[in-house]
Amino acid sequence: MKTQILGCCGRYIQGYGEIRNLKKYVDWMGENFLVIASKNRLRDLQGRITIALEGKNVTFVQFDKQITWEQIHHIEDVARKAKACTILGVGGGKIADTAKVVAHDIGAHVVIIPTVSASDASTSATSLVYNDDGTIADVICFPKSPDIVLADTEILINAPVRLFVSGMGDALSTYVGGAVCQAHYFDNHFGGVGTATALAVAKLSYDMLFQYGRQAKKAAEQKVLTDAFNIITEVNILMSGMGFENNGSASDHCFYFGTLALTNRPEYVYHGEGVAFSTCCQLVMQGASNEQLDQVYRFCRDVGLPITFDDMHLRGLTDEEYDTMTRAVLKEAFIHHHPFPVTYELVLGAYKTADAIGHMYHEGGTLL
Ligand SMILES: [Zn+2]
Repeated sequence: MKTQILGCCGRYIQGYGEIRNLKKYVDWMGENFLVIASKNRLRDLQGRITIALEGKNVTFVQFDKQITWEQIHHIEDVARKAKACTILGVGGGKIADTAKVVAHDIGAHVVIIPTVSASDASTSATSLVYNDDGTIADVICFPKSPDIVLADTEILINAPVRLFVSGMGDALSTYVGGAVCQAHYFDNHFGGVGTATALAVAKLSYDMLFQYGRQAKKAAEQKVLTDAFNIITEVNILMSGMGFENNGSASDHCFYFGTLALTNRPEYVYHGEGVAFSTCCQLVMQGASNEQLDQVYRFCRDVGLPITFDDMHLRGLTDEEYDTMTRAVLKEAFIHHHPFPVTYELVLGAYKTADAIGHMYHEGGTLL
């Protein structure tokens, strides 16, 4: 048997207005806290965090748009001067990733307070660092996951709906990719193979999406808390993050990354949106059942996740562009996490067929 590894955040806390109880959870960490947030989140939340951490020394530092080494080093200087014992990242994926790097480099605890549930960055033990031009400079894997992830649904309910839906797209890929890895003993993101627990979490996230995703979007549009919104928040932040890292990835993200090779095309879609279409492509490539494809395509169509290249804002793709994307997909690390040889023809075929099925669903057709 191969070694099985499971990793997750030290403690996951989810509740309405829970940021007010922050001190209760971080009291043991020490006295000096550094909070990283964007200008807008500082405007919204600096007062609430200051009150919540009354009695502690709290330093706030503003995050400017992109996670670059330059910005990380600047924040590390501030953190060292403040003698920070804990780094709190308050915001989206880039801020979570920044907090993880800074905390690791200076030997501090890390607490993530997501203000959007658009991706699974909050709970993961990985950070992406970018160059100024937006290309990826480094992918850093940490020896541990964040100490605490605090999901305050009062904050999250006010996030843009499109980002919430994008988070569902990222979550959708988790079981589709993870199930292939588990079935064929491919490595997960911790260098072991997945546990039964990990697969159960991924499957649960997949089932919850179909059961509650549509309702949750309605609640998000109204900016009101419902049971469905609460469950999908857990799906997007906790289950999606745990699921992908602990089971591993197959081609579920690769088809999306392939589209990014079209550098002449402006990027319109969010990560999770592109991943939703990519997940459709994986399912087509592996010959998923009509029942499974129908369930996934209907869901994506209903909540507004892309199922065609038109939805991806990639209209009128030329043969040359298909060729560029296909070659890029074949260079992706996880594309070969399949029990059959993944060839140029299979990738191109999946792209074109997934798109054609998407058009059929938009026109009211069905595979069943
Ligand atoms: Zn993702």
